[in-house]
Amino acid sequence: MRKIALLVTSGILSAFFASSCSNNNKESQCPCKEKKECAVNSEGKCGGCAEHKDHQQPSDSLPLDEKKAQYMRMAIDLSIKSVNEGGGPFGAVVVKDGEVVAASANRVTINNDPTAHAEVMTIRNACQKLGTFDLSGCELYTSCEPCPMCLSAMYWAHISKYYYANDQFDAAKIGFDDAFIYEELDKPIENRTLKRVQMLRDEALEAFKQWASKGDKTEY
Ligand SMILES: [Zn+2]
Repeated sequence: MRKIALLVTSGILSAFFASSCSNNNKESQCPCKEKKECAVNSEGKCGGCAEHKDHQQPSDSLPLDEKKAQYMRMAIDLSIKSVNEGGGPFGAVVVKDGEVVAASANRVTINNDPTAHAEVMTIRNACQKLGTFDLSGCELYTSCEPCPMCLSAMYWAHISKYYYANDQFDAAKIGFDDAFIYEELDKPIENRTLKRVQMLRDEALEAFKQWASKGDKTEY
């Protein structure tokens, strides 16, 4: 009888935690920004959107290494889910001051966007969420070692540090070989596959002249 009462009580509690959140119907704290309704984690806090439990914030009480492992597991979960949803097998998470700011899977084939790598998508989401183009102080967790484009995006965004799980050799084994880009960059420009032609430099310099003399510009 006592056992049954306990089961009923725990059932009521879990139903409460699963359904109630003061943040419901407002902007979700879930970094995916795709779902508006929040789930509530086992501590009764808003834990991200109901559809993306992998976006839930790790508990504050966890040791740092375990929190980092959870951030990476969010990225890995996104990468696995992405395979089943038609995207590439990559996921990334941006963290600031111990809080997940943004998370995304690769969306190249879904968005028809060759630049929609998980890291780039997550940087874009994080910048929108924080209202800035400067992610100084943010750390990025990616399920795979970043390609040259994503690495460059991280430099431009001033990401402070990144963590990766799969490496570029693991990626190459399943057909994602970005070594050729590194090889291209090492070649003299005239020997690269991507040919280039300079033209109309004098006309294009006008924008640079105006920028150089502008007093109230936002530098980055
Ligand atoms: Zn990339």
